[in-house]
Amino acid sequence: MHTYLCRLMAEEQNNFSEIISHCKEYGYIFPSSEIYDGLSAVYDYGQNGAQLKKNIRDYWWKSMTQLHDNIVGIDAAIFMHPLTWKASGHVDNFSDPMIDNRDSKKRYRVDHLIESFAEEQLAIGNKQLANDTIAAMEKLLAKDDFSGLKDLIESNKIKCAISGTCNWTDVRQFNLMFSTELGSVAEEANTIYLRPETAQGIFVNFLNVQKTGRMKIPFGIAQTGKAFRNEIVARQFIFRMREFEQMEMQFFVKPGTEMGWYNFWKSERLNWHKSLGIPAEKLRYHDHVKLAHYANAAVDIEFEFPFGFKELEGIHSRTDFDLKQHQELSKKKLQYFDNDLKEDGKPIGNYIPYVVETSVGLDRLFLTVISVAYANESWKKDDGTEDSRVVLRIPSKIAPYKLAILPLVKKDGLPEIAKQLFDECKQSFFTFYEEKDSIGKRYRRMDAIGTPFCVTIDHQTKEDNTVTIRNRDTMLQERILLSDVNKIINKNIEN
Ligand code: ATP
Repeated sequence: MHTYLCRLMAEEQNNFSEIISHCKEYGYIFPSSEIYDGLSAVYDYGQNGAQLKKNIRDYWWKSMTQLHDNIVGIDAAIFMHPLTWKASGHVDNFSDPMIDNRDSKKRYRVDHLIESFAEEQLAIGNKQLANDTIAAMEKLLAKDDFSGLKDLIESNKIKCAISGTCNWTDVRQFNLMFSTELGSVAEEANTIYLRPETAQGIFVNFLNVQKTGRMKIPFGIAQTGKAFRNEIVARQFIFRMREFEQMEMQFFVKPGTEMGWYNFWKSERLNWHKSLGIPAEKLRYHDHVKLAHYANAAVDIEFEFPFGFKELEGIHSRTDFDLKQHQELSKKKLQYFDNDLKEDGKPIGNYIPYVVETSVGLDRLFLTVISVAYANESWKKDDGTEDSRVVLRIPSKIAPYKLAILPLVKKDGLPEIAKQLFDECKQSFFTFYEEKDSIGKRYRRMDAIGTPFCVTIDHQTKEDNTVTIRNRDTMLQERILLSDVNKIINKNIEN
């Protein structure tokens, strides 16, 4: 059991490091400012990564706004009035319990420290202890019982990975917001924050959108954009970053109807992830034990990342907490007039709507898509020799390039035919053109960046206007009419 689990964990770990190097090698993700040795927990998206990220964002945007006639999208600024964060509770509450090791001076998030201990116990077969520790931690976190958390760490003799000692400080809260100054003159400077979530940009614009869009409850406002958190223990590649992107939607509903909508969005969002090709068995719900200060119900959609099941998206029933708070601090009414009629024939009248939120991290979703897509395959060929490839099976609708056009040789008029097809196709979708190297090598490169189709122009094309189309996933090739290429690819991207 022990060796098996260790081997499994090692394989998962290997698979994860393979994914990280693959992302770098094929222009998906680079460490930020790498020539200066990088910046911890900050990453840049390369030429293929930026396109994949945009395609995922567009897919979310379309399904949220275009396909829901009662949801509209906005783009609010990253900087917001400082009172926003007082109202939202972030100034007072947006913190994580931390503990420092006195010998190594290393700071840990308490939940991460305890979770790593539980994972280690699981790996050596102590399932009961692992489960009990996690259960105890969740109870203590729910009560903000910091001395209880410290006791839990000490009684299990949890050690610092660097110093190897149990010499811990008390558990303290640490605020995760980044601050900066607005204005060029120091004395006039005002402390403002980089938004730690995009949601507040939606709340403060609630009435602007409702009035100018003549929106009727229930309705939603969607937004994508950067968010910033000074994560203390930033780890696991783009899973936890200090600068990341969120895709959030706040759905405004009549008070008392929120649980129905909460359940609606819970299943709607799970199905959406499945529509991106994420296998159902790699997704699960995890109900929150400790509810955030604004929520009356909350669930995470978790994905089984190479390092275990972790949060991908949060669905929260946020009550009227945010709008009420903004109303109080801004002294501006943030009410909705509901002119639907009550039983007595009179309009329902004014109320502050309740909100159900769906919030997914674009970078985490990117990592999810890549983890599902990545495969290192090997097989025996007909002549008995081994062959292998690394392939990204990214769904066609979000793959960075949809098609590669490859002339078999760089002469005999083949590049001219290929370029003509390229000029036609690039009008409709991202197309890659390449004439260097053997055709086999070019196929492998396209597999590695996840291009779903390759079309090869060969000498037969000159005779009968047919080309070979190769499917990335099956590696099967068939001959089709040159004039059908555009149509076939377009049809495939829709699915
Ligand atoms: P976690 O418990 O993992 O820190 P959270 O509960 O604080 O996440 P939310 O505040 O609910 O996260 O944010 C919504 C979504 O934003 C998360 O589900 C996640 O996908 C994404 N997200 C949050 N923090 C980060 C981060 N540091 N890096 C990348 N994505 C993040």
